[in-house]
Amino acid sequence: MKVAFFNTKPYDRQFFGIANEQHQHEIVFFESHLSHETISLAAGFPAVCIFINDYLNSSMLQTLAQGGTQLIALRSAGFNHVDLAAAHNLGIQIVRVPAYSPYAVAEHAVALILSLNRKVHRAYNRVREGNFSIEGLLGFDLHEATVGVIGTGKIGAIFAQIMRGFGCKLLGYDSYHNPTCLELGMEYVSLSELLAQSDVISLHCPLTPDTHHLINATAIAKLKTGTMLINTSRGGLIDTQAAIDGLKSGAIGYLGIDVYEQEADLFFEDLSNEVIQDDTFQRLLTFPNVIVTGHQAFFTSQALANIAETTLSNITEFEQSGSCVNAVNLDKAIASHK
Ligand code: NAD
Repeated sequence: MKVAFFNTKPYDRQFFGIANEQHQHEIVFFESHLSHETISLAAGFPAVCIFINDYLNSSMLQTLAQGGTQLIALRSAGFNHVDLAAAHNLGIQIVRVPAYSPYAVAEHAVALILSLNRKVHRAYNRVREGNFSIEGLLGFDLHEATVGVIGTGKIGAIFAQIMRGFGCKLLGYDSYHNPTCLELGMEYVSLSELLAQSDVISLHCPLTPDTHHLINATAIAKLKTGTMLINTSRGGLIDTQAAIDGLKSGAIGYLGIDVYEQEADLFFEDLSNEVIQDDTFQRLLTFPNVIVTGHQAFFTSQALANIAETTLSNITEFEQSGSCVNAVNLDKAIASHK
């Protein structure tokens, strides 16, 4: 099938090039995002492939449909960046990669925990400057620490498994009580109990109207002093200003985030020669006990290989049968966002 790939980086072209040896689709890679300015490039392509920071609204979908596009292949699990109802009305199918490597994201959450706890980010700079003082680098044993997991699906369960390996006590908050987590000895509690009892809290639930700003000033007021908060899920789960206030008061003792609510204007681009205009984001970077990574939790070679293989299989399946097992079901998507 003829596929226009938007918003591609060298690593996308590398992994998709390898996976396409089996599928033999006619791929054209574009570096630019899919936007009003670039959408004319998609004319004549029955399939268009985009990433999480390409936003498709109703008028863009209409332009794509007029140009002959029948399929949007998302190189992601999330689909909140596409107007699903508009796509449905235009007869455009949306397919996605439901799971590619839950280990990648869970392991990155653990990387943030270990770095923040043992202050690896600060030690790295100190040693390079010839400063071998360990003053200010004091950590705590994770063994017997209480770890709260909000959202115990695929990623949350693997995260819980790793933390159990450190000898942590596990608390969970999710209406779904995952048998894997129960076997690990996780105790499911209310959100208030989890917030009040945990030394470390890690977010692994999706962003929905229900979970938007789940961690706000009210939630932060319930934390033990000095709690570590980790977010590798979606930026909108945390009210950033409330987190800044929590860091200033000491309620939050450590913050590790791979996602940020206004990340669309920042992440995935090299802005090192530009003046960043987002003062809230810049304030976060001034804290010694905050680590921000730019939505890289998914970024392992296994995950990229899986994303490439599943995306191209989705396109092949659509080409051969007109449907796909990984199509986003509009009714289910609307129901799950209620
Ligand atoms: P999943 O669907 O397997 O699990 C999500 C869990 O969250 C489910 O058990 C669900 O019941 C639970 N949940 C839903 N609403 C909740 C609420 N209000 N409170 C508590 N729990 C709730 O999803 P997954 O594969 O484990 O992915 C989890 C999240 O990780 C995704 O939604 C996505 O936002 C994020 N993610 C981030 C990256 C990254 O690179 N940073 C990559 C992939 C996924």
